[in-house]
Amino acid sequence: MEVRSRFAPSPTGYMHIGNLRTALYEYLVAKSAGGKFILRIEDTDQERYVEGAVDIIYKTMKMVGLKHDEGPDIGGNFGPYVQSERKAIYKKYADILVELGGAHYCFCSEEELENQRKKCEETGVPFKFDDPCKNISIEEAKKRISNGEKYTVRQTINPDGEVSFDDVVYGHVSVETKTLDEGILLKSDGLPTYNFANVVDDHLMNITHVLRGNEYLSSTPKYNLMYQAFGWDIPTYVHLPPIMKDEHNKLSKRNGDASFQDLVQKGYLPEAIVNYIVLLGWSAKNDQEIFSMEELEKVFNVEGINKSPAIFDIEKLKWMNGVYIRELPCEKFYKLSEPWMKQVIHKDIDFETLAKCIQPRVNVLNEIPEAIDFIEILPEYDTEMYIHKKMKTTVEISRTALLEAENLIKNMTDWSSIEAIHDAFMVMPEKLGLKNGQFLWPIRTALTGKQCTPTGAIEIAYLLGKEECLSRIQIGINKLG
Ligand code: GLU
Repeated sequence: MEVRSRFAPSPTGYMHIGNLRTALYEYLVAKSAGGKFILRIEDTDQERYVEGAVDIIYKTMKMVGLKHDEGPDIGGNFGPYVQSERKAIYKKYADILVELGGAHYCFCSEEELENQRKKCEETGVPFKFDDPCKNISIEEAKKRISNGEKYTVRQTINPDGEVSFDDVVYGHVSVETKTLDEGILLKSDGLPTYNFANVVDDHLMNITHVLRGNEYLSSTPKYNLMYQAFGWDIPTYVHLPPIMKDEHNKLSKRNGDASFQDLVQKGYLPEAIVNYIVLLGWSAKNDQEIFSMEELEKVFNVEGINKSPAIFDIEKLKWMNGVYIRELPCEKFYKLSEPWMKQVIHKDIDFETLAKCIQPRVNVLNEIPEAIDFIEILPEYDTEMYIHKKMKTTVEISRTALLEAENLIKNMTDWSSIEAIHDAFMVMPEKLGLKNGQFLWPIRTALTGKQCTPTGAIEIAYLLGKEECLSRIQIGINKLG
């Protein structure tokens, strides 16, 4: 049987990291088995609907390389792929389920529910709606419906039984049916709840593997009762543990944690985000960590999914992003870093070379402005910075180095490349009886005013240009008195 998995996001306006992980695993489950990956938009909760949210879903999937085989934008044999366009289908199957005894029409008002809830509260019994409408015959219910009475369709659950299934991650799950509540399947506006739509759609779309957050694990027995009532095959379930921000809190966009778009905006590369996310709950047998999508399509397997919650470790993502940045062709990194460099540098410098210089050191693109802002304006700095234990510099050595550098630079005619400056500078230490660091550290300090810079004195000298270098070195000489 062909493996068919689906990503079924609700258009909420952003791609939560957890959603993206689900999408990724769904995609990989299908692709690793040569199957199909389907995109279905779950927009039946109209209150949560956000304008433009579906585009964010398409855009994100494209950015991370999750290509669906069927979906609202490309069609397929099992459409429509947007739930709000499937209203008639849900109505049809709700009526069938009623006939099969798996559901019933309900005419209860909110008031009725409230009364029961209150009574339960008074007696201290946990609330579970006992629907009087279960006792109305289908004929009578249909009469009331044709008279225009408002109704919902509720699941009917026989309380004397047990329902069990095997989840790929959580193993054997078994519950007594009396613990399950008979929830609404079709609302009075004719739209289905998730509880109903997922069953109908997954069946009609021939979905073989359902991957979703473990918050759905406790409702899955109810879905299975519907599958059974319809006489449909139950899909393979793979419920995923939550992604945590720390030991106690789930990662959540609502609590201000970053979404996929937020991370991209901060300068994380989509490929690195995806690579990191795939490891949040899954590991390869050989503990390999860096994967291309093509590799993942080959090696991913559901057995590698772990049931203990994964912690989203931003430091690890930063590291991994750095690995990906290092791998980029120079031109690509230049293109990506250009807007970040130009945020703080408005002078006309050789940005391409600057990009080359910083590529080995930057982990996330948003580190760039702060790392290079000294190129635009020399920051205020303390003379103490010239004294560096490891470089073995003192105020005297620094003064000598800067005075010699000033002389050297004044007489230099070739400032056209890093190599030219390198060749000119590097004869100096020996000539002056200094170590390389004793000559270069003071220059770097004078040119940048910073302890940490993403590249060395010679590269910075080239980027600043001869005149600016001279002027900064003279400021340094004055500081050192
Ligand atoms: N629409 C649901 C959500 O966004 C999907 C759950 C599922 O994959 O079945 O949480």
